[in-house]
Amino acid sequence: MKIHRQPSPNFNVRPADAAVDTVILHYTGMETAEAALARLTDPKAEVSAHYLIDEDGRIVQMVEEEHRAWHAGVSIWQGRENLNHTSVGIELVNPGHEFGYRAFPDAQIEALLALLAGIRERHKIPVSRYLGHSDIAPHRKADPGELFPWGRLAREGFGLWSDVEGSDTRPLPDEAVTGEALVKLNKQLGIVGYHMEDKDSFGAAAQSIVRAFQAHWRPETVSGLYDYGTAAILRDIACQSEQTGESL
Ligand SMILES: [Zn+2]
Repeated sequence: MKIHRQPSPNFNVRPADAAVDTVILHYTGMETAEAALARLTDPKAEVSAHYLIDEDGRIVQMVEEEHRAWHAGVSIWQGRENLNHTSVGIELVNPGHEFGYRAFPDAQIEALLALLAGIRERHKIPVSRYLGHSDIAPHRKADPGELFPWGRLAREGFGLWSDVEGSDTRPLPDEAVTGEALVKLNKQLGIVGYHMEDKDSFGAAAQSIVRAFQAHWRPETVSGLYDYGTAAILRDIACQSEQTGESL
């Protein structure tokens, strides 16, 4: 696997006690790979990632893994904030939802899988800690989005996945998002890793978290509605998260 280098000045040191244990995946959300690379290496932009993978599988490293790249922004997962401290950030070239979102080509995903195998080896990343930007910043971000092949990654041991049938998009009755049922829903989302600011009602903030969950684990329908299929898959992923013993 050949890795090209185009160093970015946009990095700093990781905190002394911060061990790398998470991989955050992004899409570039720009019209071309060149535009994305220019921005990720521009000191004025103050953003970066460790790697960028073009649609043809070309890998470019911008920041050394031992350093802290600037890709996650305000973020939280499993109660831990500022994921830049402890993660490796990978940008996948894709125009994103704004400029013509499209499938990630095989060559790009194969390069990603090869890169991830090395990262896992170097840092002992737990199986549950391969995440999307939208997972750790669900109110601001939608990348890498519902076309990203999370199931394929999970088959290689990168991330959790559910084989539970989840195609039923009928919304659950109101009782499912109030009272005791809402407490349970919040608990399950929390076990998976999402941060619920408002635990008292199923409002816009909760819907953006459900949307992030769907984009990752029930990508066929990303609505933000808490429906039967989403509930079934959430139950399974929360259960798996507990069993891995890596949450909370
Ligand atoms: Zn991102």
